[in-house]
Amino acid sequence: MGEFDLIKEISQMFKTRKKGLWGIGDDCAVVKSGNKFLLYTIDSMVENIHFNIKLGINWYDVGYKSLVRSISDIAAMGGDPKFVLLALAMKSKKNMDFFELFLKGFEEAANEYKVSLIGGDITEASAFSASIAIIGESSKKPIFRKGAKVGDIIFLSGYTGLASAGLFLLQNKKKNKIDELVNAYSRPKARVVLGKAILKQSLATSMIDISDGLLGDLQHIAYESNVGAVIDINRLPVHECFKKLSFTKKNIMNFILNGGDDYELLFTVSPEKVLKIEALSKKTSVKITKIGYVVESGIYLKENKRLTPAKVSSYEHFN
Ligand code: ADP
Ligand code: MG
Repeated sequence: MGEFDLIKEISQMFKTRKKGLWGIGDDCAVVKSGNKFLLYTIDSMVENIHFNIKLGINWYDVGYKSLVRSISDIAAMGGDPKFVLLALAMKSKKNMDFFELFLKGFEEAANEYKVSLIGGDITEASAFSASIAIIGESSKKPIFRKGAKVGDIIFLSGYTGLASAGLFLLQNKKKNKIDELVNAYSRPKARVVLGKAILKQSLATSMIDISDGLLGDLQHIAYESNVGAVIDINRLPVHECFKKLSFTKKNIMNFILNGGDDYELLFTVSPEKVLKIEALSKKTSVKITKIGYVVESGIYLKENKRLTPAKVSSYEHFN
């Protein structure tokens, strides 16, 4: 049983059918409150599962990243992150320098994204973990994974594959580490400004943040929207950093299609709104690329007009 089967089992046991409440299945749970929408999300960062200090990420960056990746789920629905709760589990240690660094990194991200820490929990445990709950809000109904329609165009912000390539360089102790790739892994950004603008202008029919890999997260949109998708390989943005490394074209495509931890936004747009995306890209100074389109079923890669079924191999816990 993998992570996604477990989530399915939980959501079948705890069905929530209330007006104005959207529960398990999206980047955040959403609750309508007055004329606002409140967004809730929680994520854990566990030592030696989500990060490994021996591989070159430091405790400051762990603190920073743990908050940013949770904020990204609010961005994925077009919300505005507001408050954070932090539950920590760790070994008791005489030297707590690591913890000071973690908090400083966490503080930097909290200041950058203007979220206030309003509570949490601390417990002794056999390994370090930080569970981070964020509360966000929006004044309009947020953008769900569900909503993509056949014929919609698929867009991607920024580049994918950078964080996983950065992790690969760290894991393999490569001498020519490329800072931009390593930074993409250890100091990711959440696309809050872009997500909010997409919601404000009602540009997307569905949206998700890419935490598990482009194809894996596209599959979540496809599943929730009951559609399929075609990704045009020749349109995928390839960051110039990849040209500095001796990766094969196949390796690079694997990073781009299946690498996780980039926290870019993947969204679908109905054809009549496509022209507005260029203006949005200029306004937010974020590269936005048209990478494919929505079809009735299946996930396909298109190369030189030929379609082949995509092999999705994104990260899944317990698999
Ligand atoms: P993301 O990668 O965007 O953080 P996940 O894949 O972690 O999303 O989770 C998918 C959905 O399953 C979310 O709606 C999340 O709230 C829900 N979920 C995950 N684990 C649990 C759990 N233990 N109990 C209830 N819901 C869960
Ligand atoms: Mg997400």
